[in-house]
Amino acid sequence: MKVLYKILILLSLVGIYSCGDAGNVKVSQATIEKHMERLSSDEFLGRMPFTEGETKTVNYLGGEFAKLGLMPANGDSYFQEVPMIEIDGTPSEKMIITGGNNKLELNFYDDFVAVSPRTDSWVALENSELVFAGYGVVAPEYNWNDYEGIDWKGKTAVVLINDPGFRSGDTTLFNGNAMTYYGRWTYKNEEAARQGADGIIIIHETEPAAYGWSVVQSGWTGPQLTLESDLPVTKIESWISNGSAEKLFQMSTLKGKDYRKMAQTRGFKPIPMGLEVSVQVSNKVKRDVSRNVIAVLPGTDLKDEYIIYSAHWDHLGIGRPVNNDSIYNGAIDNASGTASLFAIAEAFKASRPSRRSIVFLATTGEEQGLLGSAYYAENPLFPPDKTVANINMDALNSWGPMKDLTIMGYGQSELDQYAKTEAEKMGRYILPDLHPENGYFYRADHFNFAKIGIPALYAKGSYEGMELSIEKIRELNEYYDTYMYHKPSDEYDRETMDIGGIQFDAQLFFQLGYRLSNEDYFPKWSDKSEFKAIREGN
Ligand SMILES: [Zn+2]
Repeated sequence: MKVLYKILILLSLVGIYSCGDAGNVKVSQATIEKHMERLSSDEFLGRMPFTEGETKTVNYLGGEFAKLGLMPANGDSYFQEVPMIEIDGTPSEKMIITGGNNKLELNFYDDFVAVSPRTDSWVALENSELVFAGYGVVAPEYNWNDYEGIDWKGKTAVVLINDPGFRSGDTTLFNGNAMTYYGRWTYKNEEAARQGADGIIIIHETEPAAYGWSVVQSGWTGPQLTLESDLPVTKIESWISNGSAEKLFQMSTLKGKDYRKMAQTRGFKPIPMGLEVSVQVSNKVKRDVSRNVIAVLPGTDLKDEYIIYSAHWDHLGIGRPVNNDSIYNGAIDNASGTASLFAIAEAFKASRPSRRSIVFLATTGEEQGLLGSAYYAENPLFPPDKTVANINMDALNSWGPMKDLTIMGYGQSELDQYAKTEAEKMGRYILPDLHPENGYFYRADHFNFAKIGIPALYAKGSYEGMELSIEKIRELNEYYDTYMYHKPSDEYDRETMDIGGIQFDAQLFFQLGYRLSNEDYFPKWSDKSEFKAIREGN
């Protein structure tokens, strides 16, 4: 394979490197290097939303899109304003559960955490009836409804983390041990709100959550950034520890029952617990506006159909110093993906014009919870049913060209087949994400496109190098995770990085998009995908 790669390089140098439908066009590594170095330089101050770093970054991105001759995608502007709210909530010291003559007092932080997604300064659940709603899932494709048959007004749903397939030993139940979106807490909060519930209590367990109680404690206290949105929200979103849940169930109508087992049983229906909850949150609210940067290269006869390339521009800004360095440069995360947007745009400009239009979207607020892409999904500038696909790039690999293309959420859509075809043209192979139980498919920007039904691909080479062994790549990935990820040392370094790997991934994404942009086919979600029903209008 090493020899094959060298031949590919050689062929590309003499300009006869065949990229299938994309003719002879090669994504420029020099362009990726130039923008990646610049965006991750100290000049951009770690690219934090609402700071001078944001102003510099978004102006740079808009300016570069204009230089490339791309059209503004939002009227005559390259910017989409993303109004955000910072909610700094303080919950009551106690969450009080009552039932008959029994009373359970849970202590904030040790036993429960609670926030209110509402912007009111004072939000309370007062004697809200508790109903056990299993995994809190409504999944038509699995014929599953944990909320069925109850009027949820004035009630609070008590739910388990993950989905019914987890630990069931049944691979036909949801996706077996691999997490579906129904397993994520974000989904559970959204569904409770859609059902009209007053509040939600999620029961923490380390294994099905894939993180400990301390992660819940740190993540659910302090200011939370969120979007200004018209979507329904409950009054209070909360978690309780596993030990607290045991006490709560012992007081309830489910005393002595194996409630976890019941929740995994087909035909489960919600069960009133004979308990009521009271808890309060006081909020301090601030508002500000950040920006997505978005440009379009219009197509020809199918110009009203779109392919969206996305990459988040934001990172963590200036923070706690490590080795006297306080600027979190975010070279890999995600100057790599943002720089690739320009290189791919350049390649499209150099190619025969595409039939479909190509959109380039640099999102804000990814690090704060995928906020820029969530805002786009709620306020799309191009109709979702005319958007053919999203290709998202985040933290591309700088260890040189890779043999694999690892696909997060492999098996979700036909885009996997497109990726496979293009990978094989480059002497590469595709690989399913090795840890689907961690739910990475639900933790990057592409996911917000999936949520509105747009088939989305999130992939990168990360397993076996063209030159470096599987073992060596594992070491380098571990080094990155331990010493660079979300640290000031995630810096651009010409000496230790091999941007050839980023070029190699960007080349594949360009070829894939170019092919899609010249077809009239809309790739479909697979039958078992939780997004299929959304795309096909239920
Ligand atoms: Zn990232």
